[in-house]
Amino acid sequence: MTIIDFFRISDIVTLLLLCTIFLYLFYHVLGGIGLSVSQALLNAMETKLVVINREGLILYSNGSWDQYIHQVLPQVAEDPSDRNYFRLMNVLGTNISSYQILSIFHGVNDLYEQDYRCPGSAEETWYRLKAVPLGDDAQSPLLLISHTDISQMIFYERNALEVIESMNDSFVVLHKDNTVKFMNHRAELLLRKPREEMLNVDVQESLGIQLNHFLTSKLTAARETLLRQTFDYYAEERKSWFEITLLPHQNGDVACFFQNINDKMMTLKTLEEGRYFDNLTSLPNRERLTGDLELFTAERTPFTIVTLSMKDFQETNNLYGHEAADQLLKAIAFRLQKAFIDYRIYRYTGDEFLLILDDAYSGIDMQKSLQQLEECLTEPFPINDAAALPVDFRKSVVTFPKDGDSPFRILQAVDAARLSLKNGSASSSEILFYTPELGETHLRSFLMKRDLLPDVDNGAVSLVYQPQVDGQTGSMTGVEVLARWEHEEAGPISPAEFIPAAEKAGLISEFTLKIIRRGLTLLQQLRAQHAFSGTMAFNLSSSSLKEEAFIDTLASLPAAFDLPPSSIELEITETVELTSDAGIPSHLKRLSDAGFRIAIDDFGTGYSKINYLDQFPIHKIKIDRYFVEKIPASRKKAPVLDAVLELVRSVNLDLLIEGVEESYQVEYLLARDCRSFQGFYFHQPLREDELLSMMEEERLK
Ligand code: C2E
Ligand code: CA
Ligand code: CA
Repeated sequence: MTIIDFFRISDIVTLLLLCTIFLYLFYHVLGGIGLSVSQALLNAMETKLVVINREGLILYSNGSWDQYIHQVLPQVAEDPSDRNYFRLMNVLGTNISSYQILSIFHGVNDLYEQDYRCPGSAEETWYRLKAVPLGDDAQSPLLLISHTDISQMIFYERNALEVIESMNDSFVVLHKDNTVKFMNHRAELLLRKPREEMLNVDVQESLGIQLNHFLTSKLTAARETLLRQTFDYYAEERKSWFEITLLPHQNGDVACFFQNINDKMMTLKTLEEGRYFDNLTSLPNRERLTGDLELFTAERTPFTIVTLSMKDFQETNNLYGHEAADQLLKAIAFRLQKAFIDYRIYRYTGDEFLLILDDAYSGIDMQKSLQQLEECLTEPFPINDAAALPVDFRKSVVTFPKDGDSPFRILQAVDAARLSLKNGSASSSEILFYTPELGETHLRSFLMKRDLLPDVDNGAVSLVYQPQVDGQTGSMTGVEVLARWEHEEAGPISPAEFIPAAEKAGLISEFTLKIIRRGLTLLQQLRAQHAFSGTMAFNLSSSSLKEEAFIDTLASLPAAFDLPPSSIELEITETVELTSDAGIPSHLKRLSDAGFRIAIDDFGTGYSKINYLDQFPIHKIKIDRYFVEKIPASRKKAPVLDAVLELVRSVNLDLLIEGVEESYQVEYLLARDCRSFQGFYFHQPLREDELLSMMEEERLK
């Protein structure tokens, strides 16, 4: 129970008492009915009641009073003539003020209240005396005086006070008008002001804290919901953190407990900050950068981010060891911090630092800053007591809001720029300025890397089949499988884009095997249901051909699909790797020995070295569209094409001409004994259903 509760309860008791007495006197004066009931009630009351006149003569007393007098002043009780209230109180040794009580008769007060200790009793007994005129105006000839035993309350209150005073929390009771009604010693100490100066004064003035929107809303919430509110609050005025608990009371008062928690906050902050700082260099880290960008972008003032990517850091690590590499990083951080006091410097990744130059972006300032940066980084950095190492940094620049208007977009731009630097060959003197194209490329390669394989499984990557045709009979001798990708966000992506991306991302072998399995499923069906006896050709990337595991899997597929290996053609494009990688020829031989057919794709465009033709076990050569385009519509000769045909014929391999679009091209080639064609003139790449219905038509012919 709080003191406040106590006050309230005793008030209610008093009120009830007064009502009852009124009732009693009303009936008494009028000689009305119900007297005995009221008399009984009043006598049963613990509160001692007397009614006196202007002379202090007791005209009425209840049983409780009579009993009390009988007990403490037995001799007086025996003498009914001695009924003067003030004399009795005097004999009792109380310090009540007769003057104050009598002043009610003069209309000075309409209520007198005093707590007094009853000296007679062995145990400490306290009474609260209340004197009120009997009647509705102060000129009434009679006074009602009640004496309520408040020993218990005093005890509790004293206890409560003791508790409150000895508490570690500061304690303040705010009146409903936000004046300070009560405060404990602790609060006094905390606020460094004597209590008297603070009591009954508006809280803002007395405690010196501003009732800002936040605090006002907390107080309102407490008063409206009558629910306790606990929160941490930083009081700018006092430069301190407080933990505050608001305990509302129905009458609008709010008890506030508060404690200074600066120490706790400091500890928390240090712990918290550990998360935001790099252990090695003590620079703020990437996590911190993300938070800071929220603030900086909210301020809307332009800023520039320079990312410094160390070249060959891994090599330094390998060559000199981790300790030296750590020293190097520390030395770089130290030098940057010293040279760029006004800038924020972060350790972004293991070998990347990032500077935020928050001066407004302008050519001159930026130029100057970059110049300064250049100078700062040219000197070698110490890696141990004896040695120093020059470090090559690649720099990229991203500006806010030009290159991204939110923390997310800014970071995306930073990553696009630094990754393109990492993968590119920019030298240390060049600075890469972010461009939207760069971001686009980055985003697309990110999407491609993330979605390619899942999209093969979910069908967003589909297969089309381009027939290979015998130009003399018009019949289909084979199909080439080509991949198509309809990306959910980016739309259709050409294989010319996603195949190199898959190669770069190291996904190509897995991708190729997925495609081949899908194709072979159809090949099974074509052979079983459509009497297809031709080949199905797949494009392989030369990087896959280096991988033992890829070759193993590939070699196992014909058996797995119950297909003759000779129905599968593997198209290989001429690249440097093909001749330079030692493993490829033996892998190709393995495949060829296993019965696969091997075709050289795009012949004549890449690293054409005619000595392949005997180095590799090749079955077929596909002459690139480039040569077909050279055929003049005017029936003149195409000498380059003729020379290539001559060359290929000398090695006695199958020959296919790609990219045939026009009838005069077909005529020209037929005239030179070419039979096998692939191109739009005959067929576009077909969807599975188109291929099947085309084959059905062929069969019906
Ligand atoms: P490619 O292997 O030389 O495939 C032939 C490309 O030429 C196909 O383009 C095809 O649509 C196109 N083409 C066919 N006939 C004609 C014609 O008469 N005129 C013209 N202008 N073009 C014709 P696509 O499908 O865009 O493929 C481009 C390249 O992407 C392919 O060249 C191939 O190297 C690669 N590719 C496609 N699918 C795959 C795949 O599943 N795996 C691998 N590794 N590479 C693939
Ligand atoms: Ca091909
Ligand atoms: Ca080709």
